[in-house]
Amino acid sequence: MSFDDLNLIEPILQALQEEGYSTPTPIQQQAIPHVLEGKDLLGVAQTGTGKTAAFTVPILQVLHQTALVERHSQSRIRCLVLTPTRELAIQIGESFAAYGRHLKLRHTVIFGGVGQMPQTSALKRGVEVVIATPGRLLDLMNQGFVDLRHLEVFVLDEADRMLDMGFIHDIRRILPKLPARRQTLFFSATMPPQIQELANTILRPNPVKVA
Ligand code: AMP
Repeated sequence: MSFDDLNLIEPILQALQEEGYSTPTPIQQQAIPHVLEGKDLLGVAQTGTGKTAAFTVPILQVLHQTALVERHSQSRIRCLVLTPTRELAIQIGESFAAYGRHLKLRHTVIFGGVGQMPQTSALKRGVEVVIATPGRLLDLMNQGFVDLRHLEVFVLDEADRMLDMGFIHDIRRILPKLPARRQTLFFSATMPPQIQELANTILRPNPVKVA
């Protein structure tokens, strides 16, 4: 199988080629068609499997295509990715930048331990995609810098690590602010009962499962 078999648009195929990718990894082959169709997804996958492109690539395509149809005049946050660490957030941001380099979608990365000014400035300028660690996101939400009412896609990345790092309370405070009508992608390297329960509360019933 090649990326050409996945119904991806030309600007994305071109970016993947420029990255030097020729073949989608198994999780990309399994996940991309379902994410393009708007389905919810439960992915049991570790870092190193190509998991990041498995969600960033189809999300970019969906956001690009609906932006063309709906001609959004002002930018709004349409996709939120929550991830446990600053390093992962930066890496996911780089993926959106790389695979989306021929598209016009803007993203920003939000994490703690640094000044919030550059982050709030980016939010004020307007972005379609926010990649964030939970604590700082909640902080900026409480200050009124983050409007998630128009969110279409929500990604929870590395859910098991989120729990291990004690982020569950922050996540539970963020969830009620997300529109109920949305697409959700849930990734975890392991699926103990507590994570399965969290997945059940966040995903629509009967999500597509990829492992
Ligand atoms: P991830 O599991 O998302 O952290 O990705 C692991 C590494 O694999 C990253 O450095 C990606 O740039 C790379 N990668 C992702 N998808 C592909 C692919 N289809 N072909 C080659 N490399 C890839």
